[in-house]
Amino acid sequence: MQIERMIRRFREAGLKITPQRVAIFEYLYTTTSHPTVDDIYAYITGRFPSVSLTTVYNTLQTMVGLGEIEEIAISHERRNFDPDTRPHSHIMCVKCKRIEDIYTDNLSENCLPESVRKRYRILGQRIYFYGLCSRCVAEK
Ligand SMILES: [Zn+2]
Ligand SMILES: [Zn+2]
Repeated sequence: MQIERMIRRFREAGLKITPQRVAIFEYLYTTTSHPTVDDIYAYITGRFPSVSLTTVYNTLQTMVGLGEIEEIAISHERRNFDPDTRPHSHIMCVKCKRIEDIYTDNLSENCLPESVRKRYRILGQRIYFYGLCSRCVAEK
């Protein structure tokens, strides 16, 4: 289970396991909505009112450092986190800011021109799409 795995990773890294940290793991691994720091903070303070935003943020940065979650820079206004570290792309609705995952083999390094592929060994990619979701289009 991912939560137990995270607890193990933190212990291996010599980091303390607190109930607050476990609550952050729980939130991340039971949501599919690419939460922001504020989303996570709102949830955690509902259970542990004394937790600071810094604590939440530091725990998230530690998880990013361990390679267990990714920070997604799709929005300029907020920082979203993704517990799914498998290669995938994202699309965001510019109106409601909902982010969805895109899993496809078509968005690979094969999209790159030969001239680029010849000069680089590709290690990864981050592709972001922007649009209006069908719900927001219907609301217009
Ligand atoms: Zn929308
Ligand atoms: Zn994702």
